[in-house]
Amino acid sequence: MAVDSALSSPLGPPACEKDAKALRFIEEMTRNAEAVQEKVLAEILSRNADVEYLKRYKLGGATDRETFKSKLPIIKYEDLQPEIQRIANGDRSAILSAHPISEFLTSSGTSAGERKLMPTIQEELDRRQLLYSLLMPVMNLYVPGLDKGKALYFLFVKSETRTPGGLLARPVLTSYYKSEHFKTRPYDPYNVYTSPNEAILCADSFQSMYVQMLCGLLEREQVLRLGAVFASGLLRAIRFLQLHWQALASDIESGTLNQKITDPSIKDCLGKTLKPNTELAEFIRMECSKENWEGIITRIWPNTKYLDVIVTGAMAQYIPTLDYYSGGKLPMACTMYASSECYFGLNLNPICRPSEVSYTIMPNMAYFEFLPHEPSDSFGLTSSDPQPVDLVDVEMGKEYELVITTYAGLYRYRVGDILRVIGFHNSAPQFHFVRRKNVLLSIDADKTDEAELQNAIDNASRLLREFNTSVGEYTSYANTKTIPGHYVIYWELLIKDSANSPTNEVLNQCCLAMEECLNSVYRQGRVADNSIGPLEIRVVRNGTFEELMDYAISRGASINQYKVPRCVNFTPIVELLDSRTVSAHFSPALPHWTPERRR
Ligand code: AMP
Repeated sequence: MAVDSALSSPLGPPACEKDAKALRFIEEMTRNAEAVQEKVLAEILSRNADVEYLKRYKLGGATDRETFKSKLPIIKYEDLQPEIQRIANGDRSAILSAHPISEFLTSSGTSAGERKLMPTIQEELDRRQLLYSLLMPVMNLYVPGLDKGKALYFLFVKSETRTPGGLLARPVLTSYYKSEHFKTRPYDPYNVYTSPNEAILCADSFQSMYVQMLCGLLEREQVLRLGAVFASGLLRAIRFLQLHWQALASDIESGTLNQKITDPSIKDCLGKTLKPNTELAEFIRMECSKENWEGIITRIWPNTKYLDVIVTGAMAQYIPTLDYYSGGKLPMACTMYASSECYFGLNLNPICRPSEVSYTIMPNMAYFEFLPHEPSDSFGLTSSDPQPVDLVDVEMGKEYELVITTYAGLYRYRVGDILRVIGFHNSAPQFHFVRRKNVLLSIDADKTDEAELQNAIDNASRLLREFNTSVGEYTSYANTKTIPGHYVIYWELLIKDSANSPTNEVLNQCCLAMEECLNSVYRQGRVADNSIGPLEIRVVRNGTFEELMDYAISRGASINQYKVPRCVNFTPIVELLDSRTVSAHFSPALPHWTPERRR
């Protein structure tokens, strides 16, 4: 029941007093966005006045926006590489931040094939937790009764490593789940997970998934929402159920745990609660053995009110599959927008349609600037040197690249995300996530750009030399019809000697040679997370790429400026390529990957 009207919020009547406080905070921050931003920048600059980076640019202790903007350059990760490397190698002096760097967060964005290392400081955990604490109060405005059941969330930790100087390097979510903030979080009836911490914190991804699924099945009637961080993760869980329901059902029937589950803390925790339940085991067998898995989510978890998964950006490709498994009945809530560098903001209307999702940036998280993003003309030039604008000065309908200055010591750092303003909440803008710059292919957390793809093709085509063959043209496609999804690369080959054309075996090896060249996030997805399937090369017959050009021109492309698209996702084009495919080849093995960085 809603609390009394004295606590009411312009966003809607809060579900409880704790929610009222959170909603008031959102109102305060968004109403005073300009003042909060000014304060955040002054705080960051004054506490870091003596750090090497700011002294280099002769900021002289100034904390105002004008001086800051006139003296500091807008930078990319590569510009910070020398400083990051020094910190990684053990230099503990105040290079970027007056507060000690507590660890590195490994971004899914890469630089020279390796994950970017984002420095962070201890107190950032509080800021992240603050943003998390706003999500349920907003959701409770739209979905009542979430305190009457549980959430089945598939959450995972990933492997971590140490830099030469001894700092931990791990993904931001691994850092968060392993923190006391998460492990010893106070009980909140609106935020109870079916997965025990022991399962979430198990580094073995099979055991973790198995136990999280088992617990979700055991409490299937209590589950009110189902999710994972990204849509690809939730689909991987469904695929896991497809592959392992027999084993799961037999554990439920006997009240014992499969022998593959060896993690002592999981065994300890589940050993006490598992009881034989023949009826539930029978139900799972009956549902999962059906040929048709359409609507399986709502059949197994009948009380689910929504799916909690990010389906914006690269994840939009999974909406049709998620719709299929949920029988088209469940809303998909994209609750927040965040990165390793900084958590940015939240969706104030989470039950909207995926195409309408907007994220409200919370002005207390960092100091934000927005670089107008102008589409380049046909010569690749933009009209002028665009100047960044402040959070409250962005204009409705325009696109911007996000630039951040964080408490952890990133100054005027380009995140690489393109956002479009589609509204305002008070004076805080609300952004549609348009895309990440320079990403051609993405299945899960991986992001492959055009240069990486070209490099991988160059590497693979070396194997063709002895056959006097080269890759004449190529394009690519993120195939998400399989679970996990996989990269498909279309090749048109120039075979000079048809009596000695490349064998099947060699073309399979070409797939692996490409994978070996792709960045470490891709290879980790293949090897450790099993979130990406084997790369596929489809050889198309000669003349296919000319047909592709004809098709583009027939749809209005200029013949002079036509360039082969290096990635395709428009269905008629993919169908054209598929209909011209003469042979398909898959990577025969896993590429090389270890948690250690190459540099
Ligand atoms: P990482 O650095 O690995 O944490 O990845 C952060 C990036 O993931 C962001 O910069 C975005 O490109 C993307 N991302 C995060 N949240 C969302 C979201 N809600 N919608 C679309 N893309 C997102």
